[in-house]
Amino acid sequence: MTQRMEERIDLPLLGKDPSHTYRMGIMGGTFDPIHNGHLVAAEQAFDDLELDVVVFMPAGRPAFKQDKRVSSGEDRYAMTLLATSDNPHFIASRFEVDRAGITYTADTLEYLSGIYPKNVEFYFITGADAIAEIVTWRHAETIARLAHVVGATRPGYDLEHARSAIAASNHHFDVTYLEVPALAISSSYLRERVVAGQSLRYLTPDQVTGYIHKHHLYGVLPRRYGASKIAETDVEWEGEVDG
Ligand code: NAP
Repeated sequence: MTQRMEERIDLPLLGKDPSHTYRMGIMGGTFDPIHNGHLVAAEQAFDDLELDVVVFMPAGRPAFKQDKRVSSGEDRYAMTLLATSDNPHFIASRFEVDRAGITYTADTLEYLSGIYPKNVEFYFITGADAIAEIVTWRHAETIARLAHVVGATRPGYDLEHARSAIAASNHHFDVTYLEVPALAISSSYLRERVVAGQSLRYLTPDQVTGYIHKHHLYGVLPRRYGASKIAETDVEWEGEVDG
């Protein structure tokens, strides 16, 4: 154990009453950028699974994205913080962003299970596409042992790939799938809209839009969407979009 939970201001204090079981959601994602689909999915998981809190954890250096262009951990964390700050049961944590090297979910769960008492259960929430690959992740057996897994999907998404991969695994994963209509939105869709000069309004909180523009992430918003009110310059960004 390297650090106690009381020493991390961005992790919730949970588990004080030994007679009670606490449920912590861990919202894992690259969040480049975070959008309303992620927020709705986390809120739905909070309700449906009776979670006590949801910790949004932007991945530091995402394991499967070493060859892709990803915004800095600092930018992705800042956008996550802005997006979650008005919800009392959401917390943004910079734990993975601050870790050296590639981000592995098993390492995060090992750390959390080391600092929290046994009456805290972990629910690792991410996209169903990612869940389909979970059996190939490093120390998948640790993930299966330490967490319930929650796969968020958009309506109509075919779960067959994810279900058969999990069923064929040697490890017993406890998986719940949540259908979230708002997940018709994706981060790549938002990046494409920025590059095309289209509005992000109603797709992500306005504070996130403001941050994207101010820091020239992905591209520049046109003036008619209010960019002139939030940007200090109109510097063009020669960006390209990853899938
Ligand atoms: P990804 O491959 O970029 O995402 C796959 C799909 O899931 C995309 O459609 C994505 O949409 C969606 N998605 C991602 N996070 C989501 C969330 N929290 N809620 C709802 N939908 C979500 O996956 P990723 O973002 O790189 O990684 C997801 C999580 O898995 C992270 O916590 C990452 O660290 C972990 N992971 C761990 C390992 C490992 O330990 N070896 C390997 C891969 C991933 P958007 O693009 O719109 O988000």
